[in-house]
Amino acid sequence: MLYDVIILGSGPAGLSAAIYAQRARLNTLVIEEKPLSGGQILDTYEVDNYPGIWGITGFEIGQKFRTHADKLGAKIINAEVLNIKLQENKKIIETSKENYEAKCLIIATGARHRKLEVLGEEKFFGRGVSYCATCDGAFFKGKTVAVVGGGDVALEDALFLARGCEKVYLIHRREEFRGAKILQEKVKETENIELILNSNVTEICGEEQISSIMLHNHKEKMNKELEVQGIFIAIGIEPNSAVVKDLVAQDNQGYIIAGEDTKTSTEGIFVAGDVRTKQLRQVITAASDGANAITSVEHYIQIGKQ
Ligand code: NAP
Repeated sequence: MLYDVIILGSGPAGLSAAIYAQRARLNTLVIEEKPLSGGQILDTYEVDNYPGIWGITGFEIGQKFRTHADKLGAKIINAEVLNIKLQENKKIIETSKENYEAKCLIIATGARHRKLEVLGEEKFFGRGVSYCATCDGAFFKGKTVAVVGGGDVALEDALFLARGCEKVYLIHRREEFRGAKILQEKVKETENIELILNSNVTEICGEEQISSIMLHNHKEKMNKELEVQGIFIAIGIEPNSAVVKDLVAQDNQGYIIAGEDTKTSTEGIFVAGDVRTKQLRQVITAASDGANAITSVEHYIQIGKQ
């Protein structure tokens, strides 16, 4: 069967595209690698900035998006995309299950957690090292943990962990945080969060589990050991764009280059959500991309070119 459009990924961008595609009566298939839809939003404790839905958990909003797409009859399958080939006017998606063909492709594969790349990070993954406070925070109830980073995620993680942990150190490499001011204020008001600024984690230490981390304060040129039982690394994201690296133009960080119309450098391939070059990576901008991508797909199908 030749689909009108295949959407890779079922986070907010992919599901928004699926919803718009169903309403446009496009013959659509969504391919998701993970067992659950929602993407990175599943790792977020609370989403407070999506208009009209205040104070919802990331998991709940992810499920709401999925239910919406399901209710409109979207076809969503689980498979790993292994390769993509271009053939005349169609795109062939080779997956771990079977091959699928479509006139258009929307890449909505999102992004993944960036690694600190320090000694002990890999060794202690799952034994004190985590990239997801909402998934693993409960294991550290009453304990002392560190959060690394200065963006929205690090601030949110510190606040979330402070509810159950005895003490949370928030370690950032600079003096200023880049996360939202409202989160910075909340962090500063929280008694059991201690800020450690101008510092980098240089090593994660322990026997079976983490027992401490080594820090370097580059302003004071001092090293110190900090006793913690867990470390939550929240230092940003990297795009999941490897599968299309030879197909569409990317910037030097691997983000797929496209504007608001979501058109990539290749005819019939569109990009939506965090994997696209853009100013602001949030649920609302991902959902907006999904809608725009379907508008571009409809246009492409009607006139046969981007
Ligand atoms: P981010 O905004 O890119 O922040 C990453 C932080 O990690 C920065 O403070 C950065 O330091 C630091 N960092 C990067 N590499 C590092 C390294 N090797 N060692 C130490 N520190 C390092 O990433 P994020 O917080 O994961 O957020 C990702 C995206 O999701 C952002 O666009 C964010 O706005 C969005 N988001 C939004 C919300 C919300 O609206 N509520 C919630 C979650 C996420 P520097 O500041 O020095 O560069």
